[in-house]
Amino acid sequence: MARSKLRYQSAIRAGENKICELGLAELPINPIEIASQHTILVEPKPSTEPGVSGFLMKRGDAFGIMYATDIDNEGRKRFTVAHELGHYFLPGHPELLFRNGNGVHASRSGFITHDHTELEADHFATGLLMPSHLFIAAIADKDDEGFKTIERLAARCVTSLTATAIRYAQCSDDPVVVIVTEGDRVEFSFMSGVIRDLQGIDWMTKGSVISRRTATFQFNQDRENIVRCRRSEAWTTLDLWLDGAPDVEMKEDVVGLGGYGKTLTVLFTEEPIETERDDDDDDD
Ligand SMILES: [Zn+2]
Repeated sequence: MARSKLRYQSAIRAGENKICELGLAELPINPIEIASQHTILVEPKPSTEPGVSGFLMKRGDAFGIMYATDIDNEGRKRFTVAHELGHYFLPGHPELLFRNGNGVHASRSGFITHDHTELEADHFATGLLMPSHLFIAAIADKDDEGFKTIERLAARCVTSLTATAIRYAQCSDDPVVVIVTEGDRVEFSFMSGVIRDLQGIDWMTKGSVISRRTATFQFNQDRENIVRCRRSEAWTTLDLWLDGAPDVEMKEDVVGLGGYGKTLTVLFTEEPIETERDDDDDDD
């Protein structure tokens, strides 16, 4: 397993462990309360540079968090605060970000960068706001599935649809793919374990072009769909998205993410994926 992958998994666990340590046993987790328990002041910050979601500031032993006020969504605001808490709690982060002991770190949270420190804080935020033991129990609370479950859990956890979809893919035993696109290009994607385990598939990386035969491609042709947070749903097949994957039918749910200019797509099926392996002679 790649070293960065291990670092991200341990960042998720650090977020989850913090919840256990604080004795929090119910969703939603409020990161602003956690900050205030640690005497970290949280305040809004108007007119930040585009793409900057928040800040962690340190002066002496005092820490402060600011979140960009152009974030119009409570879920994204909380994710931003949880990301900054990641920099505060994760071993090595304060030393790395404040080499002189004091300073201001500007964050780009929400899995949009390739910076390992930022991505570690994003993974910490995921574990903090959606700790697996509470999240998996909440999935099982109702008999819904796929995008319906993601919407229900986003309301329950007060998290954005995108962050919730990513966590759902990480925790689900079903085939799930979460893709964020801009225009005809992939920004980032997450896959559930059963899809990651498929042999011989090409991973979707940042900048990959999506198939014109997908509902997402059509949806992204009209910018109004994204700005107005419209939705669309269709059926697709996995091989249209991942080269080398079997042509399993998947539900494709598409949501415009508003001023953010990006689109969230969730592919889901509860049917198990048959892998065509001829060498079924493992037991001799
Ligand atoms: Zn950051």
